[in-house]
Amino acid sequence: MLVTSFRDPGVLPRRLDPNPEVEPRDNASFDLDVSEGRPKDLIISMNRVDDGGVPELGLNVDIITRWCTTCRIYRPPRCSHCRSCDNCIMNLDHHCVFLNTCIGRRNYTSFYGMLCHMLAMCFMGLAGCVLHLYYLAVPSDPNAKSGIVYALKTTPASIAFFWLILMWLIPAGCLWIYHTFLLLQNRSTVEQIRLDGSRELYDMPKGNGGCFGNFTLLSRFAMCSEKIRSWFVPEDFAPPIAGSAQKGREARRKRTPFQYANPLRNALVVLGRPTPSSSIT
Ligand SMILES: [Zn+2]
Ligand SMILES: [Zn+2]
Repeated sequence: MLVTSFRDPGVLPRRLDPNPEVEPRDNASFDLDVSEGRPKDLIISMNRVDDGGVPELGLNVDIITRWCTTCRIYRPPRCSHCRSCDNCIMNLDHHCVFLNTCIGRRNYTSFYGMLCHMLAMCFMGLAGCVLHLYYLAVPSDPNAKSGIVYALKTTPASIAFFWLILMWLIPAGCLWIYHTFLLLQNRSTVEQIRLDGSRELYDMPKGNGGCFGNFTLLSRFAMCSEKIRSWFVPEDFAPPIAGSAQKGREARRKRTPFQYANPLRNALVVLGRPTPSSSIT
């Protein structure tokens, strides 16, 4: 927990691209930060790590690298800007409010290790409480006092700890299951949220209301939900998926250029990926 909390999650240095390519000024929108217009998002081409023998996936992929107006850099793939830390973080997973730090490339492995340890400690604690009660209720000495009522009266703390640990185990276990699920797919929490969003929110009709076109209220709701999504979900890496819910499901099945077909390999790649040296001096 201390390692995760105090280690640099992978903050990218600022002002790496002082002179970005700019788009001509658009009358409809203005950007106070850049007087001459909006910096262009660049499209870079990269190779998939593994096409898994699926020809339609293709080996070359175009990825949009977005310009970060705060850090004044082109964000590398899978990098996002954290609003709480106000930094671009390499392989941002999420900002952890409990550890008060981002979980990114340089501390994800220790974060997952922390989750595993937490789960193991919960099970050890539960087993300890149960065994304590069991040996008091069923003692090896036949002349000693016994029975579940006697055990409960002797050690009410065991019951209290049992429930406390159980209450802690439920959220901790869910978090462990969620991160294991993400690990096996080499997907970060940010990417997963974006994917969920693209199915449920981004696919909502734009402008004219699409299939909700006849119901003004519904189309307004759709546009509003898209706006709300843009507050929470950073827009980079995964290009927006326009179209139907069917397309969202297709995108779910389609592997990103960083994913291997083998889930175990994905987990090993994420947990064992090299951590670049910190740029914080
Ligand atoms: Zn940034
Ligand atoms: Zn953060």
